[in-house]
Amino acid sequence: MNIIICGAPGSGKGTQAGLIAQHYHLKRITLGDILREEVKRGTQLGEEIKKYMSKGELVPDDIVKEVIEKNIERDNFILDGYPRNIKQAKTLEKIFEEENINLDYFIYLDVSKEEIIKRLSMRRICKKCGANYHLENMPPKVPNVCDNCGGDLFQRMDDTLEVIQRRWEVFSKDTQPLIDYYRAIGKLVIVDGNRTPQEVFNNIKCIVNDGKYIKL
Ligand code: AMP
Repeated sequence: MNIIICGAPGSGKGTQAGLIAQHYHLKRITLGDILREEVKRGTQLGEEIKKYMSKGELVPDDIVKEVIEKNIERDNFILDGYPRNIKQAKTLEKIFEEENINLDYFIYLDVSKEEIIKRLSMRRICKKCGANYHLENMPPKVPNVCDNCGGDLFQRMDDTLEVIQRRWEVFSKDTQPLIDYYRAIGKLVIVDGNRTPQEVFNNIKCIVNDGKYIKL
């Protein structure tokens, strides 16, 4: 089974990708994480990527194309964060054709802008284990300390209010058109992402287990 998961920043696609990958034994390919790793390594490429990421802009298509070609699997994967615009979707379609890869679902997590801003501005992440917290809905027991491993919590450089606004604009303009693109090829599944992570995951499981496409 091969899945693409898509949604606005803060829609919970990372959380759902993790749950889906674990439940269905899929390899998780998270483009944002791969790019952040490159930035962390401080390579020349990482410096270039950082310029775009820190402002909430998309990293140029040719850079991400190379990254995706290096990391794509032939089967049993969930792709999180790619494609993010129509050009990337066409690039991916070509890769799928060349490698004989079949796409089963394009899952779109639908979340309101108000909810996104609330989630992202209050998001904190553990430096050590990557666990996510929300200062209001899911705060750590001790402020700024991870419940799981005791690591320090931090705010992502692109989770500030100004950058969140820009990421939303980029998402509306570049990424939302993908809904029509995948609807046209019969792969689109829309899931209400405003619910709790467990409820969202239960809905995804219903669709995937039944193997039925909801054409919207
Ligand atoms: P994410 O962790 O998915 O929210 O991605 C964080 C940032 O990584 C985005 O705001 C972009 O700067 C960059 N990024 C992630 N995926 C892509 C992509 N498919 N194309 C271009 N830039 C991307």
